[in-house]
Amino acid sequence: MMSSTTTDPSSSVDVALIGGGVMSATLGVFLRQLQPDWRISIFERLDSVAEESSDAWNNAGTGHSALCELNYTPQKADGSVDISKAVAVNEAFQISRQFWSHLVEKDIIASPRDFITPVPHMSFVWGEANVAFLRKRHEALNAHPLFSGMEYSEDPAQMAQWMPLVMQARPPGQPLAVTRSLNGTDVNYGALTRLLFSYLTETAGCTLHTKHDVLNIKRGTDGRWQILVQDLRLNTQRTVNARFVFIGAGGGALSLLQKTGIPEAKGVGGFPVSGQFLRCTNPEIVAQHRAKVYGKASVGAPPMSVPHLDTRMIDGKPALLFGPYAGFSTRFLKHGSLMDLPRSIRPDNIKAILSVARDNWALTKYLIEQVMQSNSERMNALRDFVPTARSKDWELVVAGQRVQIIKKDAQKGGVLQFGTEVISSQDGSIAALLGASPGASTAAPIMLTVLKKCFAEKLPEWDAKLKAMIPSYGQTLANNPDLCAELRDKTTKVLQLADD
Ligand SMILES: Cc1cc2nc3c(=O)[nH]c(=O)nc-3n(C[C@H](O)[C@H](O)[C@H](O)COP(=O)(O)OP(=O)(O)OC[C@H]3O[C@@H](n4cnc5c(N)ncnc54)[C@H](O)[C@@H]3O)c2cc1C
Repeated sequence: MMSSTTTDPSSSVDVALIGGGVMSATLGVFLRQLQPDWRISIFERLDSVAEESSDAWNNAGTGHSALCELNYTPQKADGSVDISKAVAVNEAFQISRQFWSHLVEKDIIASPRDFITPVPHMSFVWGEANVAFLRKRHEALNAHPLFSGMEYSEDPAQMAQWMPLVMQARPPGQPLAVTRSLNGTDVNYGALTRLLFSYLTETAGCTLHTKHDVLNIKRGTDGRWQILVQDLRLNTQRTVNARFVFIGAGGGALSLLQKTGIPEAKGVGGFPVSGQFLRCTNPEIVAQHRAKVYGKASVGAPPMSVPHLDTRMIDGKPALLFGPYAGFSTRFLKHGSLMDLPRSIRPDNIKAILSVARDNWALTKYLIEQVMQSNSERMNALRDFVPTARSKDWELVVAGQRVQIIKKDAQKGGVLQFGTEVISSQDGSIAALLGASPGASTAAPIMLTVLKKCFAEKLPEWDAKLKAMIPSYGQTLANNPDLCAELRDKTTKVLQLADD
């Protein structure tokens, strides 16, 4: 457990990072590399870092690169498959891979196996129409340099070799298809977060304050941000001044952003979707599956609720995860308050929130059905993937909260977004990260966006360092097959991802 008490008496810092999750950790490491002389203070309200969404069992640990997630490749009205979103997601993950490789090469992370494991990514479908879709998806992706090497099969014998647990006792005669990519990964984002914070707190001028709740953020007369912090151990409050603030508070980011009063926060709301997984640790069953197998989402399901059966590798121990089952709670954080949602409703966002409630009946219906599910219904959903599953081998675990973004919309009044968004003040002195998808996988490219939005004037000075950290910085791998292959090979080697 990584925690720290207040040792930094200074009430004035260059950078304040609010929240001890993977996003603040990633931005902190970027800034440490780019500007080592800046003083950084990190505030986390819980006992230690990575206890909310970034904890290993609070998320699915997929290194999202659109190798297996079918929601990133929608079918168009003419029947063709649109791969543009998949290309963007994969490209973003390549940036994370480069960033993590740099940290390994620099000895900031001693062993990549402490947080990342090669796990094949597969898409699995049944039924004529879905098989036809997967075949087209494979044709479209396999021709692209970012996805090269993806295999496709409709042969049950081949499938039984790739995913024995999924094929065991499966009734014959149903059209089935699967794609497999050996470039997939399982990532322990909790371990990664702790490794990054360990490094940060060992560097001079960087202090982590756990059990410190940020209560308010307002701009001082000198233009700096005044952060009101409560020390939950001593039950005292103090104000810290910062030139730059990053609100990496996960589900807590919206309420803090609203407190800043910046015009960019006006009209923004949040909609929480909670998650649950079934977990299996029975070694006999765990040994029969080594893949992340993603299926097709049910009608009305939000994009991140695609069912999947995953090998997880957490602290050296393999386990299986199935889910997510969506749920509804008015909390914005797993350790949050039931008042989070009601308190987030303001005169400037109520119209957008009500419009979203009116226009998203399919999602509402889906969430109600999910919340009402019995254990045997959850087991039946699992048996689509593991026909032999027995309930005694699977336990229900509560995952993290995701807060989807609600934004004003001129036509509809309000729209629900499933991605992530960086909202920053015009002068770049404060930024917040909202939303949670594709999530932790894209922490490095999202933090590059924060750097671009908030430190534009520093970018020329930082250019060489950014290129050392991210060799593809300023280029697009999708348009550069040679560089794409070179960096994929390099990061595979450094991160020890060659399948074994
Ligand atoms: C069910 C589920 C499955 C997911 N699966 C994946 C996946 O497979 N792959 C993937 O890449 N991503 C996945 N994600 C998304 C990923 O987990 C998140 O995008 C990521 O962890 C967010 O990191 P963060 O640092 O923004 O937030 P968090 O990890 O939630 O950290 C925020 C921190 O801020 C602290 N905080 C909040 N308010 C305050 C305050 N006022 N003062 C001080 N501290 C505060 C919190 O205590 C918390 O520690 C999933 C998420 C969920 C919920």
